[in-house]
Amino acid sequence: MKFEAGRTVTMSRREIIRGLATGSVVVIAPGCAYNEQLGRSQLLFVSQGQMAQLASSAWTDLKRQERVTNDPRYVNRMRRVAPRIIQAAGGDPSQWEVQVFQSDQLNAFALPGGKIGFYTGILDIMENDEHIATVMGHEVAHVNFNHSGERYSQSSLATAGLSVAQVAVSGSQYQNQIMGVLGMGASLGVILPFSRRHELEADKFGVRYMSRAGYNPAEAITFWEKMAAAKSGGGPPEFLSTHPSDATRIAQLRREVALLQQGRV
Ligand SMILES: [Zn+2]
Repeated sequence: MKFEAGRTVTMSRREIIRGLATGSVVVIAPGCAYNEQLGRSQLLFVSQGQMAQLASSAWTDLKRQERVTNDPRYVNRMRRVAPRIIQAAGGDPSQWEVQVFQSDQLNAFALPGGKIGFYTGILDIMENDEHIATVMGHEVAHVNFNHSGERYSQSSLATAGLSVAQVAVSGSQYQNQIMGVLGMGASLGVILPFSRRHELEADKFGVRYMSRAGYNPAEAITFWEKMAAAKSGGGPPEFLSTHPSDATRIAQLRREVALLQQGRV
């Protein structure tokens, strides 16, 4: 039995001690966890599972409030790419849900618990499956490394000492904060940026996933450059405002792609 720290209140002291002694209770101690793949410690008061719990109602709301499309021109492309990327990222495609939302926004997101949302706007400018794989790999990496869990751990919800269970039960009272840590903004459809470090990590592992899935990772560079060019031509695409495509980022991407092409990662 996996026992989450936020629910300890429902157990008696004796039950907890007995559980710990038999090894059936694992208290996830709040604090820093070293992630070998990332090569750094993460401040995590919440597990992936707890974040999934918080994300599930946000996802339900999104599907109710945004316009989900079943247009095969969009859905078929997503169905072709998603299982390959999810599998390459170590996930089970049958456990993930993928939806396309009808909106001109140039954006996409993924939520803990395996939810991927793309807007028709961004799919319209994606010339090939590699471009979809670029963004999907990036978003799945955010989920895999529990970036929103880190954001949660730094948020007012965590500093107020609220457990995930308390927050989930209280529901709407914390809706804005929950959406915030999930990167969705206070109102649905508004996507918030992750930190620069998170973006660099998502880029790095995103291209690895896409390469492992059999896509040409060099297309990731083409895609980001195209997005940057679109920015200089007019209003900035939303995906760029949440994913600032500065020189450092492109340089790291080039390095990663070169390593992949040389078979060194
Ligand atoms: Zn990102």
